[in-house]
Formats: sequence, structure tokens, C-alpha cells
Amino acid sequence: MNSEIRHRIGIMGGTFDPIHIGHLILAECAYEQFQLESVLFLPSGNPPHKKHRHDGASDQERLDMTALAIRDNPHFTLDCEEMLRNGFTYTCETLRLMKEKHPDTDYYFIMGADSLMSFDSWKHPELISASCILLVAVRDQLETEKMQEKMKELHAKFGSRIFLLGTPNLDISSTKLRECLRQKRSVRYFVPDPVLDYIKIKQIYQDTE
Ligand code: ATP
Ligand code: MG
Repeated sequence: MNSEIRHRIGIMGGTFDPIHIGHLILAECAYEQFQLESVLFLPSGNPPHKKHRHDGASDQERLDMTALAIRDNPHFTLDCEEMLRNGFTYTCETLRLMKEKHPDTDYYFIMGADSLMSFDSWKHPELISASCILLVAVRDQLETEKMQEKMKELHAKFGSRIFLLGTPNLDISSTKLRECLRQKRSVRYFVPDPVLDYIKIKQIYQDTE
């Protein structure tokens, strides 16, 4: 019998420096709205667009914080694939490896509107588009029409299959959180408590100037 069951797995990629509730809410909404089996949290290895990061956490710390943030959610999983690779890491390569290992899986790559708007500049957007479906959440109050325009453009250029996530605009970013932490302001409730405890114990994001 040839009844192929396709798995539906979400991928929440990010620098997670630090991971915050924006990432977690996006992943949970995608899980629910697109009937995903689980969501893989994929801390980026060494993405070329963030090569000048100097005020952030180490790779191990980003990994630990991500693990702590998702540990109480049974359908969230940590994926260290990109962290273990040497050199620059590219989403197209990560997806190629995943598809090779799991040909029976459809991947749903979750991102915010800022990533959608810069998607043209990612390496091989056409290969990424062939390997996964993109799920996009609003960010920075970007109007739905602007997002839909971009979705059409990317579909025409790269054959991208893109859907909008139903999420509220979450005005939160790791950049702002790092800034708050350096200024010793509270980020409580913006990051899960275990992550906050970890940041305090490890003294991450203290003034580096
Ligand atoms: P930084 O300020 O360091 O860039 P960030 O908050 O943007 O951090 P990333 O790790 O860069 O977090 O983001 C990973 C993915 O999550 C990206 O696709 C980004 O668009 C998305 N994302 C992060 N925060 C939000 C948010 N508040 N709303 C919607 N999408 C978000
Ligand atoms: Mg970002």
C-alpha cells in the first residue's frame, strides 16, 4: 500500500541572544494554527548577517537559554544542527540536510516580518522556498498589505509558499532586551524566569564597554 504519511514540523530559527517570549509565542501559534507535530528551535550557528555580534552571549549560553525556555513544552524541541557546523551557517544548507534525513517531512519555517522583507538577501532563497513553507508573523506594526505585497513578489521570484500567522504585534526584540540588561533594567516577563535566572547567574549582557 502506498499511503504516505507526511510529517509537519515547524522550525523556529534565530540567534536567540537571548530567546524571548516573542519567539515562543510565534512558535506556539504556528504549532496550533498549522497543525504541526512539533517545532524545532534552531539556534543559529554563525550567520553572516550577524558576524559583528560582540556584546552577546556565547554559543553555549544561547543554546542553554533556548533549552531552558522550551523545556516545559512537550512539542518544542532543541535542534543543535547549526551550532555544530563550522564556518558560516546558511538556512538553505540546514534545510537541505534536514530534507535529506527526513524526506517524509514537510517543514514550516517560522519568521517575523523583518525576515520576510529581507528574504531576497538570504543565500539561495529559491532553494529555501523549494524546501519549506514560510510562516510569517507581523512585526514592527508592518501593515498586512505590505506583507502580502512582499509575499506575492517572493512567490513570483522564487516560488515561495508563504502564509501569514495570526499573532498580535509583539513589540519585543533581543536587541532591546540586551540594552535593558546592560542598563540593569528589568526584563522580567519578556523572557521566561529560568532564562532570566541563567542570565543573572552567568552575568551575561553586562556592560562590555
Ligand atoms: P535581534 O534584535 O538580536 O535581531 P530578535 O528579537 O530579532 O533579535 P532573532 O533571534 O533575530 O530575534 O529572531 C529570530 C526570528 O524570530 C526572526 O525571524 C525574527 O523576525 C523573529 N522574531 C523575533 N522577535 C519577534 C517579534 N517580537 N515578533 C515577530 N517576530 C519576531
Ligand atoms: Mg533579529
